[in-house]
Amino acid sequence: MNLSLDVIGIGHVTSDIVCPFEKWPETDTKTILPGLTLSGGGPTANAMAALARLGVACGLVGKLGDDLLGRFAREAHASDGIDISHLQIDPGTESPVSVILCDLTRSTRTILLTKGRGTTLDPATLDHAWLRQARVIHFDGHQMPASLAVARAAKSWPGARTVLDAGSMKPHLPELIGLCDVVFASARFMRELTGGEDPERFMQALHELGAPVAGVTLGARGSMLSDGKRHFKQPAFEVAAKDTTGAGDAFHGGLIYGLLHGLAWDACLRIASSVAAIKCTGLGARSALPGRDAMMQFMAERQAISQEDELRLFR
Ligand code: ADP
Repeated sequence: MNLSLDVIGIGHVTSDIVCPFEKWPETDTKTILPGLTLSGGGPTANAMAALARLGVACGLVGKLGDDLLGRFAREAHASDGIDISHLQIDPGTESPVSVILCDLTRSTRTILLTKGRGTTLDPATLDHAWLRQARVIHFDGHQMPASLAVARAAKSWPGARTVLDAGSMKPHLPELIGLCDVVFASARFMRELTGGEDPERFMQALHELGAPVAGVTLGARGSMLSDGKRHFKQPAFEVAAKDTTGAGDAFHGGLIYGLLHGLAWDACLRIASSVAAIKCTGLGARSALPGRDAMMQFMAERQAISQEDELRLFR
């Protein structure tokens, strides 16, 4: 058993089939793609891939079938450097898959997906002794019974912080928000929760649900964070964006990287935005995720990191 993981993600684990093409195909025609990428997928799983690419030891908890897609997803996550020792495999489970159609001309993406069957983790099967080694536990709002159980238990684990990526409204999500230390949500969830487009009102609503630190990502408009006293705004970095699939997942990876190194919130936001922007320069959720050197160079070129923070990241 690996007992030196810094971050463990609990959530939806899937496979992504990324299909780029120049022109949206007409019905009943054949289109030859310039290429096709297969990778592991899922929100927290992508965040773990971003962290692994940055050199952080991380693990993933979820449930897959013993079918071809399940075996592929396991292999893909392991080859991205993620500890899969606690990915559960159940012969009765049907593994999910996402097909991501990337229109290169219009820079849009359309996702077709299956959710799988029997993928819900039983909280009684979780290995708390293994989970509590992590300095950060990351949730994506999937695997709700297991996430609630771990978020409750983590309250008494010394030094453990919980971070939630709230993508869209789901049963019991407000309860999970109230148990987590940091909650970053999408613009979609902002609209679902508040019925509006006011990030400050939304972050206040997250605080009222019990999140001490709340934030929202707003696509190419950037991101905002509130620690209850101060608000921080971070514009998105300008890049030649090809595909924004998984931008929020990469953002979470960068945010947790900053947290692990004890950086202040504004610096964490700059790291998160850098990792997310670099990700957008490639197709799919993982192809362009940066290593630490590429991230540092990107940030240095944009004067987005102080010398002091740079030293902290190298400690
Ligand atoms: P999600 O994938 O959860 O919907 P967003 O689309 O809000 O997340 O994107 C998350 C973050 O990724 C943004 O806050 C921003 O920092 C970065 N990002 C998204 N789109 C772009 C873009 N076109 N160019 C640069 N950065 C981007």
